[in-house]
Amino acid sequence: MFVSIDGGRAVNDSIRGAGVFDRVLANYSGDDRVVINMVLSAENFLELETVVRLSRLHKFRGVVCNLYTPRNDGPNPMDLPPPARAAVVAELRRVKRLYPGDLLLSQAMIDWYAVADHRGHCYWGDEAVHYDVSWQRRRCFSFNADCANCGCLAGSMQSPMQMLKHPAEMRALIYEVGDPMGRVETGWSGFARHCLLSLWSSFLPGGKAPRKSKP
Ligand code: SF4
Repeated sequence: MFVSIDGGRAVNDSIRGAGVFDRVLANYSGDDRVVINMVLSAENFLELETVVRLSRLHKFRGVVCNLYTPRNDGPNPMDLPPPARAAVVAELRRVKRLYPGDLLLSQAMIDWYAVADHRGHCYWGDEAVHYDVSWQRRRCFSFNADCANCGCLAGSMQSPMQMLKHPAEMRALIYEVGDPMGRVETGWSGFARHCLLSLWSSFLPGGKAPRKSKP
């Protein structure tokens, strides 16, 4: 179960609305099924450690992050130019070193965020099938997402074949952290289910056969 928190009370409520921070904690504190989802931008990334500590304090399962991903429709004040992306990724690595069990992103996922341009090399966009509520095909969660400036958690979660390049992390995901999407199923049964779903999505109408992707 995901809840969105983008910083401490002041920063979160400036982004999500007044009173949201306290309402989230009042409703979910102590629920270890909850994963905090934080969207990082140049404005709030220094709040990451605060949010991870908050997760510990309130006994949540941990924290995952998206980087703000713009649309292909012109500049946006929240876009992450290369120096800002580098600073965000450095902060992710620093906090991961301090709280490896609470910041649920793997090193491979942080490496994905270090690279902005994933055009033509995204398992999530290339090999999974997406529809909006009107059954229109689209490439990602967001219509017209800018794959040249990607920060999507879904994209950072590699296919099983790509995970094989990182055996130590794969083992950690299966046995220690569990499914980074927050599902409880762990162990080899969870891994096998993930592989089967990935294969199945490749053969759905409009899906594409698995192909080798650039790391
Ligand atoms: S996760 Fe979405 S935005 Fe990112 S590269 Fe893949 S399809 Fe594009």
